Amino acid sequence: MGKMPVVFIGHGSPMNAIEDNEFAKGWQGISANIPKPKAILCVSAHWYGEGTFVTSAKAPELIYDFYGFPKELYGIQYPAKGAPVLAGKVKEAVKSVKVRSDETRGLDHGAWVVLYRMYPKSDIPAIQLSIDGNLSPREQFKIGQELSVLRNEGVLILGSGNIVHNLGLVDYNAKPYSWAKEFDQFAAKSLKNEDTSALFDWKQNKNGKLAHPFEDHFVPLFYVMGAAAGETPRFSVEKIFAGSLSMRCAVF
Ligand code: ZN
Repeated sequence: MGKMPVVFIGHGSPMNAIEDNEFAKGWQGISANIPKPKAILCVSAHWYGEGTFVTSAKAPELIYDFYGFPKELYGIQYPAKGAPVLAGKVKEAVKSVKVRSDETRGLDHGAWVVLYRMYPKSDIPAIQLSIDGNLSPREQFKIGQELSVLRNEGVLILGSGNIVHNLGLVDYNAKPYSWAKEFDQFAAKSLKNEDTSALFDWKQNKNGKLAHPFEDHFVPLFYVMGAAAGETPRFSVEKIFAGSLSMRCAVF
């Protein structure tokens, strides 16, 4: 088996788990066009905090970490197994920070909404790595670099966030805001040109604060960039939804 690609998914609303829309179709197109992974390591915007943790549960439960959505969403099951052995390999591979196990945490919706569409048979073991919000983009990138060896073992490293994510300004009837388009283009261009410094310094971008009032949905990209260092992506689902959510996905 060759080296697995690395993927960043713009996940948007949890509704993408049940709506038959262009986003779900785009994600399915990605999984259909890459080798089937042996296991998945997801870095989701929705596990953001202090320290670096890896899930090591044998049978991770789903976390329904969203409010006010249709009942159907809270009934979704995704019985993929965990991968405690892979979690151990993650701890060995990452040298720049200490990675600790979390034996009880399941999969948050940044992970399972995407996996439910990409791999609906739930037959691929899945684990998550947490985001340490105290680290700089360079340090997060470094962790991704250290994890990249797992790509040789059939592991799909999957970042789940959004290139532009301003929930406060979401308007389902709005056209993409100009600042959202600009920031999305800035990120896409920088990824294509491997201009990692521009991305690391995204807070200096004039649209940075609007694109991400809080950084949790952007920083999974740094882990992905590290895991795919030196490779340029192809994009899919290049669309801005509800004015202020970029659904852009990248496959490296
Ligand atoms: Zn989210």
